[in-house]
Amino acid sequence: MRRDHERDQCRSARVYPGAGRIPSGLYDAVLLDRDGTLIEDVPYNGDPEKVRPVPGAREALDRLRAAGLRLAVVSNQSGLARGCFTADDLRRVNARVEELLGPFDSWQVCPHGEPDGCACRKPAPGLLHAAARALGTTAARCVMVGDIGADMTAAAAAGAAAVMVPTPATRSAEVIAAPTVAADLPDAVTEILRRTRLVAAPASPPRRGTVLVARSDAAGDVLVTGPGIRAVAAGAQRVVLLCGPRGRAAAELLPGVDEIVEWPLPWIDAPAPRVDPAELRDLTDRLAALNADEAVVFTSFHQSALPLALLLRMAGIARISAISDDYPGALLDVRHRVPVGVPEPERALSLAAAAGFALPPDDEPGLRLRTDRLPAVPVEAGAAGYVVLHPGSSVETRACPPELATRIVRVLAAAGHRVVVTGGRDERELTARVAAAGGIDLGGRTGLDELAAVIARAGALVVGNTGPAHLAAALGVPVVSLFAPTVPFGQWGPYRVPTVRLGDAGAACRDTRATRCPVPGHPCLAAVEPGRVLEALRLLGVPADAPEPVGAVPVPGGVMR
Ligand SMILES: [Zn+2]
Repeated sequence: MRRDHERDQCRSARVYPGAGRIPSGLYDAVLLDRDGTLIEDVPYNGDPEKVRPVPGAREALDRLRAAGLRLAVVSNQSGLARGCFTADDLRRVNARVEELLGPFDSWQVCPHGEPDGCACRKPAPGLLHAAARALGTTAARCVMVGDIGADMTAAAAAGAAAVMVPTPATRSAEVIAAPTVAADLPDAVTEILRRTRLVAAPASPPRRGTVLVARSDAAGDVLVTGPGIRAVAAGAQRVVLLCGPRGRAAAELLPGVDEIVEWPLPWIDAPAPRVDPAELRDLTDRLAALNADEAVVFTSFHQSALPLALLLRMAGIARISAISDDYPGALLDVRHRVPVGVPEPERALSLAAAAGFALPPDDEPGLRLRTDRLPAVPVEAGAAGYVVLHPGSSVETRACPPELATRIVRVLAAAGHRVVVTGGRDERELTARVAAAGGIDLGGRTGLDELAAVIARAGALVVGNTGPAHLAAALGVPVVSLFAPTVPFGQWGPYRVPTVRLGDAGAACRDTRATRCPVPGHPCLAAVEPGRVLEALRLLGVPADAPEPVGAVPVPGGVMR
């Protein structure tokens, strides 16, 4: 018998205090930029007569209202600080916007100019947090719609989702870096409602017996499947997770999992092991012995669920659900299809929903970990509030270049941040070299669970597109993401956690899924200035708390020499 506390952690994953709020669905609110998004951009407009809604705006907003979503406007109006118009003009312009577009539940306006260095002017996330508070929710349960990079950056830094609706004036680099792009405001609304419907709960989820869920591949893949697995757990008596050896440690930390079967699948792993018929017969026997009533096979968008579905059929499992664009014949009972570009956690949730499982009303769609299973933090890490830098990755293209990592440590340490450098046992040489620039070296000291414990006490994590980013997302720790664009950021970026993305989103390696950098010099990340990491930490509100090192002399660009 499990103890109550453990059972609670395992089944319902109430890791975060929900403040009594009952969340429902993917989003509570849509936050909208005003100029260029809701209405045509007239620079520093103080005249209500010049307010012109973008085509289809009223009808699109009414669709959101009808879906029960609250609406807020979040708008930079530096024209106030510049004296281009008065507060009264602004009120009349906003009143005209409401007259034409219907009521908004909250208006959040930054009256400051850029030199004021306020916390509300986008790309800072202050306005979005204020809007979420005014609407009785959190930024993580909001989606932002805007026309420029500052809107997208502010949304990410607040932990909100975002859709960009570019105008002819939007810079192409900002469009390329946006997590989701829509053609116009009605199209953005369609996308928001489509994502909401994808993960929507069935009317009355039936209570089922044992459900086998499968997610092969690495730790990060298992972590982003967590919300889908929790949804299954909410409607099943027993959940058995089939995972590979590289995902085992992450599987141990997932709420909702009662039992784990570890088995490498030769059609998933890369480099792929040889197919051994005897081993697959053993796996089929093992799966049959589970007596599962049904199976839900989770995959990434480039993997096939069908080989495993065949083994599950041979193991006698009666009902099998999976995403498959390929014709599954008799292998699947629920063949689900998901459009491209959906964030991996929502992709998993949508499959669970298609199979008849939804998150309970007191659970949220974000990533979660069983914090009761986290071990003690190595004492060398010091008091909470440090910045963790994790330079390595099992996939070369997704790691932070070592030379850049070293410079980041130097710049952060000089600015008073305590930097803890983490890495696996085979990365000790790397972490020692990087930490020598002024950080604390925990290389080789942390398995996945200790790493999670170290990250849980961090002010922020600086990391490439690799498993620890998803640990941070699950722990609510802000991420500075050095994201090589080999896979789409909107799909694989840290989910529902304050994030600043750095690196060239339009580099030649974009969407190649390359595991070794196809471009000499790894330009998508190597060109990142370490000072940008410092700026990112400021945007995320992560304070430096160590005394300035004696004799340190800042030089232009923030680099200590
Ligand atoms: Zn402001």
